[in-house]
Amino acid sequence: MRFSEAFINTVKEVPAEAEVISHQLMLRAGMIRKLAAGVYTYLPLGYRVIQKIEGIIREEMNRAGALEVHLPVLCPAELWQESGRWSLYGPELMRLQDRHSRQFCLGPTHEEVITDLVRREVRSYRQLPLNLYQIQTKFRDEIRPRFGLMRGREFIMKDAYSFDRDDAGAEISYQKMKETYERIFRRCGLICKAVEADTGAIGGSFSHEFMVLAESGEDRIASCSRCEYASNVEKATYAIADKEPVENSTSWLAMQPVSTPELSTVQEVASFLGVSPSQVVKTLLVLADEQILAVLIRGDQELNEVKLKNLTAATKISMASPQVVESITGPESVGFSGPVGLSGVRVVADYSVRDIENFVVGANRKDTHFINVNWGRDCPRPEFFDLRVVQEDDPCPRCQGPLKISRGIEVGHIFKLGTKYSKALQATYLDQNGEEKTIVMGCYGIGVGRTMAASIEQNHDRDGIIWPMPIAPYQVMVLPTDTTDKDIREAAEAIYQELLSAGLEVIIDDREERPGVKFKDSDLLGIPVRITIGSKSLKQNSVEIRIRKTGQVIQVLKDQCRQKVQQMVSEMLEASS
Ligand SMILES: [Zn+2]
Repeated sequence: MRFSEAFINTVKEVPAEAEVISHQLMLRAGMIRKLAAGVYTYLPLGYRVIQKIEGIIREEMNRAGALEVHLPVLCPAELWQESGRWSLYGPELMRLQDRHSRQFCLGPTHEEVITDLVRREVRSYRQLPLNLYQIQTKFRDEIRPRFGLMRGREFIMKDAYSFDRDDAGAEISYQKMKETYERIFRRCGLICKAVEADTGAIGGSFSHEFMVLAESGEDRIASCSRCEYASNVEKATYAIADKEPVENSTSWLAMQPVSTPELSTVQEVASFLGVSPSQVVKTLLVLADEQILAVLIRGDQELNEVKLKNLTAATKISMASPQVVESITGPESVGFSGPVGLSGVRVVADYSVRDIENFVVGANRKDTHFINVNWGRDCPRPEFFDLRVVQEDDPCPRCQGPLKISRGIEVGHIFKLGTKYSKALQATYLDQNGEEKTIVMGCYGIGVGRTMAASIEQNHDRDGIIWPMPIAPYQVMVLPTDTTDKDIREAAEAIYQELLSAGLEVIIDDREERPGVKFKDSDLLGIPVRITIGSKSLKQNSVEIRIRKTGQVIQVLKDQCRQKVQQMVSEMLEASS
């Protein structure tokens, strides 16, 4: 490919609309352009990366025995009503009506459509197991689309669905996909980790997310420094020690009210009373859907809403409004809620407050706290659960080793669905004895555009993108420093042709630009190997090869260039295979 004909328009300035580095660099390198909020066009350079990622996904899915299909984007509401998700999915589901006022949605995921297909086609156990996948455009009406391809409203996804005779079979399908995903991301040249995850809106019993490790990642990962345990912080737990409740103790002091005018945050109260925040019990009045709950948690800990959601089986957790708080704890008590004398609501507490004594709580009246509060004596012992966000150095739930917190970007998610959708849609088969059984399912997604963005978040420097070789839009860039110089132009052209005939993916920067501009663009585009042809080295009959990732530069004789570059490219491809 010739740069002059490649429809690449690079941009020097960092676009104001782009908050994250991958979005900035993709816009600057001319790989994507925005059409509307969360809706992007892939330009030729960007689309080459997409196609490479898709190519790796296809090869590995096919290797695992999955079969490619192509399902409609336009999905009839009836199917979604059958599964119950038409009402559950909320405003993120992009809904529309046809001319006959029939309702449809643009598929954000395809469990319903694929289960409908399978219930019509599969009759016998002989047709199972089955794994069907597609690579397709999906829609999600994000309330605030941002971060470029990371959170778009229209995006390319690979989704796969497995159908098995029983649970044991579904387990095998799940493990096979987990291994396939590990291969896919390794082959894309990415450092990725499979972590345990919450099942969220998709549902099911068990799931893993695949995280590309990157400082800028939105997700936090807790992983054990001693064993294999790794989990999204949303789900991560820790080793909770058993302890008998203390009924009374000589160390218990007398509870008393103290005046804490206008001090309502844990930090303010703790420093005013001269105690550590871990001595303060926060009382959060929370709405779990319609139900009001008082949630108690230690002042130095953070509530994990996903855990509370799972405990209460609620679809939404929100903080109670001041009006609701006052209706429970009394007038002007907002910011001073506490468990002493609290009635009429369910009280749940995190384990972090189970073993403390002489603690501080809000007194349910304006500008007042209680000090020296103890369970059982001053207020009933609440129900204890794991409701907090794990922290660095918490003991691992499996081996008690210290947990480490790192950041990642979710690029894939696999779910063991069980019979959630097959039951709702009555997808059954006849077993060996002619008995009707429900099919057991799994589903498996990869965000293709997200993988592209995540690879940039993981691989870039201040000059631009550093593509891993397997997904680079081109493997090699040939850069003649001065195309008006006949010797340089001809030498560059010869090398370009030679590399093309050797089957390499090459782009030649044939523009009549200053060398500085070309070097800058070459770093920005992030092509892994660059060959520079300039007058100085050409006099010694040599050219310069530079590795984008390491900055390593070597001089080679012109007629050894092809061989050397070929060797480099295959080494860089093999490194991630
Ligand atoms: Zn461990």
